[in-house]
Amino acid sequence: MITVRRASPQRRRPQKSITPMRVLVLGAGVTGVTTAWYLARAGFEVSVVDREPQAALETSRANGGQISISHPEPWANPGAPLTALRWLGREDAPLLFRPHADSAQWRWAFAFLRECLPGRTRRNTAAIASLAVHSGRMLRALRADTGLAYDHLERGILHLFFTPAEFAHARGRVDELAEYGILARACDADECVALEPALAGARPQIAGGLYAPGDESGDACRFTQALARRAEEAGVRFHYDTTITGLSCTHGAIDAVAVRDAQGRAGALIADAYVVCLGSYGRALVAPLGETLPIYPVKGYSITAPVADPARAPSVSITDESRRIVCSRLGDRLRVAGTAELNGFDTRINATRCQAILDWVEARFPGAADLTRAEPWTGLRPATPGNIPLIGRSRISRLWYNTGHGTLGWTLACGSASALADLMSGRRPPVEHFPFLAGR
Ligand SMILES: Cc1cc2nc3c(=O)[nH]c(=O)nc-3n(C[C@H](O)[C@H](O)[C@H](O)COP(=O)(O)OP(=O)(O)OC[C@H]3O[C@@H](n4cnc5c(N)ncnc54)[C@H](O)[C@@H]3O)c2cc1C
Repeated sequence: MITVRRASPQRRRPQKSITPMRVLVLGAGVTGVTTAWYLARAGFEVSVVDREPQAALETSRANGGQISISHPEPWANPGAPLTALRWLGREDAPLLFRPHADSAQWRWAFAFLRECLPGRTRRNTAAIASLAVHSGRMLRALRADTGLAYDHLERGILHLFFTPAEFAHARGRVDELAEYGILARACDADECVALEPALAGARPQIAGGLYAPGDESGDACRFTQALARRAEEAGVRFHYDTTITGLSCTHGAIDAVAVRDAQGRAGALIADAYVVCLGSYGRALVAPLGETLPIYPVKGYSITAPVADPARAPSVSITDESRRIVCSRLGDRLRVAGTAELNGFDTRINATRCQAILDWVEARFPGAADLTRAEPWTGLRPATPGNIPLIGRSRISRLWYNTGHGTLGWTLACGSASALADLMSGRRPPVEHFPFLAGR
């Protein structure tokens, strides 16, 4: 049964009023749940609504697991158009564009090309780096506060390069990362193997690596579900199995969210403020209000397989920069993820693209995992052209955004959510260089 709750007009500012302002968070992925957590901590009365039976069952379900602070450079960078051309027409290409008769797809693709200009890439990289560093701090603090367990490892990320030219570019990245306060160092192939002995078999192919000791890995789904349980214990109310069908707007302000429960019964949820954290699906929901969110789904794949031989499975998280594949050890499982495909909202599993990931595991870490028991998965990254998430106030009264985190939603979750809670509390988030929305 869907509850209809009335907002009291005096419930506006959490610090001044006796009863806190009520916020409804739309979406219970990693972004929505962290948003609910930080808002509740800031004194708001929070509810969350999601169509799934529990948290993190869509894009936050089986991602690459990396807290990748050392990779703030977006996919839209000066090298991207050439890379995409190189892979053109290959079904197993790391980057794949499947054209649709959909103006949103073409608009997004052209905007992506514009973000590849060097000046824009530099600006976007600085903004993401600032937010990522803040996010890393917030994640560590949250872990210290809550003791959440989610198969996390603090062994850093090793970015691997397989051609001398790519490795040469990586050396330049060390200085750039240092400017953002991110520690990383270039390593030759022997150092890479010393850091991660499971790479011994791949040693002859490795041109070099870039090691970021401050990065982490962990299961975003376990994290989100555990945090949702803590939030519930702290008073956050979750409406699962509840699909949002529309936003009702009167005189330029949202006054209700129309929903349908699992039995198909219609209802409405009413709060004093609403935060959109709906992944790739937020754009269509706000479009009837005249809001144009530059978010398009960028499909990716992962496989999760039981570790067969712990000595052969890496525990340092790995990024293969040539193939755009990442690999994280999640307890007794190996998660390997990658590929980007512009293919609308298609969530079917493509066997060729999954096989490319399985082949990668077999080539780089032979015998590490039982690939006969690998679980394939696909998810839609809610991506903006420059990978800059939308965080802050919309043009519509009572409507806020924390969405569009693209390739880095797990990395940026805690920083984005705490920043949004700051903004909604009337405080400036402690993040330099980030273009927070201010009513746009
Ligand atoms: C293959 C792959 C690998 C990745 N690897 C990494 C990585 O290593 N590190 C990293 O930082 N990031 C990674 N990402 C990105 C990261 O997973 C995403 O950015 C992040 O999960 C997005 O979270 P979200 O909460 O915004 O969206 P979602 O997790 O999709 O949450 C949106 C929620 O909204 C709900 N919803 C949508 N529409 C409705 C509706 N109408 N009514 C009710 N509920 C609705 C959905 O059920 C869902 O729970 C990866 C992504 C992919 C696909």
